[in-house]
Amino acid sequence: MLHSKLPNVGTTIFTRMSQLAAEVGALNLSQGFPDFDGPQALRDAVCRHIAAGHNQYAPMTGLPALREQVAAKIARCYGSSVSAEHEITITPGATQAIFCAIQALIQPGDEVVVFDPSYDSYEPSVELAGGRCVHVPLSQPAFAIDWQRLSDALSPRTRLIILNSPHNPSGALISRADLDRLAELIRQRDIYLISDEVYEHLVFDGAQHDSVLSHEELYQRAFVVSSFGKSYHVTGWKTGYVVAPPALSAELRKVHQYVSFCGVTPVQWGLADFMAEHPEHVSELPGFYQAKRDLFCDLLAGSKFRFTRAAGTFFQLVDYSLIRPDLDDVAMAEWLTREHGVAAIPVSVFYQQAPKDLRLVRFCFAKREETLGQAAEKLCAI
Ligand code: GLN
Repeated sequence: MLHSKLPNVGTTIFTRMSQLAAEVGALNLSQGFPDFDGPQALRDAVCRHIAAGHNQYAPMTGLPALREQVAAKIARCYGSSVSAEHEITITPGATQAIFCAIQALIQPGDEVVVFDPSYDSYEPSVELAGGRCVHVPLSQPAFAIDWQRLSDALSPRTRLIILNSPHNPSGALISRADLDRLAELIRQRDIYLISDEVYEHLVFDGAQHDSVLSHEELYQRAFVVSSFGKSYHVTGWKTGYVVAPPALSAELRKVHQYVSFCGVTPVQWGLADFMAEHPEHVSELPGFYQAKRDLFCDLLAGSKFRFTRAAGTFFQLVDYSLIRPDLDDVAMAEWLTREHGVAAIPVSVFYQQAPKDLRLVRFCFAKREETLGQAAEKLCAI
């Protein structure tokens, strides 16, 4: 019998809910992906590069033209100057970037702080490196960092803290004041950061994203991760990047070159062209997704679900305790999918130990107006 290295891991909730949605013909607001396409000019650019023969291995660290575009975007958005050559690495998706950063950092016995609810790939990646996750729940209802609990969770074995802002699944944002407080807390310790910022451009109501890239002190010990999949509506292209100071990037690249070696070549060419030609694309994202959030929330106002509008990401949490307080959130997500034709993601699966009275499910609003209208109609009828 094979001795499993991940004995506690099954099939992810995203696969399970998307499969169930397909099986019963439900609208799929569970797994986070748009039901509309990325920009035509971007898709055309990739096709053009395939036709032009850009189909062999890309450089291990990523196509220089794309790394230059990422550096230019970072300068524009966060006012920081990073080296395209030494600090930016293109990866096949943010998941792989996070995996490589964890393998580069974590030794057997090391502890990694994750904030619950936390994205599902963090813990298995830590376990494969021989580390152990220490789960610190975010405080309710705002999903904010509980500083006392964080401070209590740190030990001499703590090697890494994983941040995620804008936060999946709550949409909560980490502020500049939070980053300053974190810097103070870890200043005298040998602790690194992974800052998962895949939703960096999805912030609403005029708020700005406080990136670790704009925090000089924290950046010195950070791997900042993003995903073209989220920012360009092409999750299936599985292309992301990591920004880290040269010494950290060098260690990350040692792992990345043996996990995948490089990212997909024509996709990188297409993204580089599109970013050069359409720098406005990312600055239009907040308005684009805020309109979707507001449409969905306005329509849901007539339902029995209760919610506070998400501050960021393309997810909306809703409390269903006025509808089926008897069901836990996993049963509720299944009930919504099977009985009411709208698939959702339960929130408890992102916890080591979820609060007992948690009655929240997550809907993805990266959908066409028509889909959001149909979903809201079904949800308002409950
Ligand atoms: N990040 C996406 C979500 O939260 C899912 C990605 C995946 O299926 N692994 O829904």
